[in-house]
Amino acid sequence: MGSKAIRTCIACNTEKYKDELLRFVIVDGQLVFDLKQKLEGRGCYLCFSKECFKKSTKKRLFQKHLKSNILEDISFFALCKNVRETYKRYIYTLLRVNIISKNIVEGIFKVKEALKEEKAFLCLFPSDVSKNSKDKLTNLIIRKKVPFYMLDDKKTVAINIHRPIRGAYAVLDKKLANVMIEKLEKIKQIKKWI
Ligand SMILES: [Zn+2]
Repeated sequence: MGSKAIRTCIACNTEKYKDELLRFVIVDGQLVFDLKQKLEGRGCYLCFSKECFKKSTKKRLFQKHLKSNILEDISFFALCKNVRETYKRYIYTLLRVNIISKNIVEGIFKVKEALKEEKAFLCLFPSDVSKNSKDKLTNLIIRKKVPFYMLDDKKTVAINIHRPIRGAYAVLDKKLANVMIEKLEKIKQIKKWI
């Protein structure tokens, strides 16, 4: 954040602040979505919009702007998947790191406590959390007006964050919650595009 440098979207040519655009680079011959905008090498920028994702893939704009002949064609679907997976990996990294540093609690019991004590700014559930477990928390979540999102299934979440299988997670840090919500919203939007 904070960088007020301006870049141009390769698809619609609109100038925007760098941190409002997605940056892409080529790493080992592959197109990589540079989420943190820190990877070395020539980069190009794209709006987070269905239209710009479509145009950039259809018109081979990555090849053109990254001056790469080796880069294979990427479909709209593959680009969506690439960006979504990168956001997901980032969410899992944040989960893993912040459970260790205690900014995130895991498990139905601890999440319930956090909600009761009004310490939770965001709740996350694996998609296959039991109805019973979810029901226990839903009323509290609604009453306390805490945003919540669904993740992958329990096992996938556990494997990705190298933790035991749990039914819920709560983020106790407001700034962290906002960072995660921004990414989770994007994951949700991309799902709607494809
Ligand atoms: Zn654009």
